[in-house]
Amino acid sequence: MQKTIFSGVKPTGKPHIGNYFGAMKQFVALQNGRSDPDASAGVNYFMIADYHALNLIQNAKEMRELSLDVAIDFLAIGLDPKKSIIFKQSDVPEHTELTWIFDTITTVPYLKRAHAYKDALAKSGEESINVGTFNYPMLMASDILLYDTDIVPVGQDQKQHIESARDTAEKFNRIFGGSTSLTTGEIFKLPEAYILKDVETVPGTDGRKMSKSYDNTISLFASDDEIEKAVMSIVTDSKAKYPENVFYIHKLFRPTKELDKIYEENKGKYKVVKEILIEDLKNFIRPLRERKGEIAKDLGYVNKVLEEGKEKAKLVASKKMRQVKKAIGVI
Ligand code: ADP
Repeated sequence: MQKTIFSGVKPTGKPHIGNYFGAMKQFVALQNGRSDPDASAGVNYFMIADYHALNLIQNAKEMRELSLDVAIDFLAIGLDPKKSIIFKQSDVPEHTELTWIFDTITTVPYLKRAHAYKDALAKSGEESINVGTFNYPMLMASDILLYDTDIVPVGQDQKQHIESARDTAEKFNRIFGGSTSLTTGEIFKLPEAYILKDVETVPGTDGRKMSKSYDNTISLFASDDEIEKAVMSIVTDSKAKYPENVFYIHKLFRPTKELDKIYEENKGKYKVVKEILIEDLKNFIRPLRERKGEIAKDLGYVNKVLEEGKEKAKLVASKKMRQVKKAIGVI
């Protein structure tokens, strides 16, 4: 059966290996039909979530550069515009239009239960949380639901947002599904999160979740110097059998069995195992970095990919929006 895949990345800074192993690697695998054989013939959408990023990036030059950079990154990791629709969220106004409609069927307490909101609340207090951050799950529900998405490959931190998209789809279908003679039954499909257990939360150099906002990342396109610096800064715990944070990141590159042997042989020698990890990271990152460099030389091509993605995404989104508008009775 054909399946539709949808996911996005916010242009808020350099992507890191947590983004890659937690989500972006699955984008490519699903695109190529490797992770889910059923999905091979479906449509794949990969979005640069610039309106989501606007909650954080409020500088035009930065926004432009970071957005283009995500497009380059998508191509560098192996997303193929012949197989996938790569587009910018702001290029398809239906996303924000549908968000408003979802706002009208969603309660404030429901959104207050979102982890992202609770985290922001704990960090900075209600007064400094903007409405965009509060409303984030509704924009994300619109992103996913506009395209009749089946599968959303993401990291664990996004699980609740996919559940919000499902809840919102169910609620909309219940309220408006059979309400006019023009539309019957379901308008929105219920999406499912696709989260790989082993990499659902990749830890950063300090052992917390790797995240752009914690300054604990290993960048996906890091230079050799940056790799060395990041790995040497990984916090080690002398009480554990192995230096856990190093081991976990290392597991992304070698099978556990092989690592057990290496770490057993080098017990207590943190510098040695870190050096092995540095080599593995360099070997993994170098070709990606070179590919990114090549793609960045031809921005005309990158912009053309985005232009084509925009047209394709718009076609689907505007059709769905017409259906929604009929269902709510504005046309
Ligand atoms: P970030 O969370 O770094 O700000 P995004 O929100 O753009 O970046 O995340 C892009 C994708 O990467 C999402 O699917 C998210 O769940 C995933 N992701 C982010 N950090 C991690 C991590 N440490 N481990 C696994 N997946 C992650």
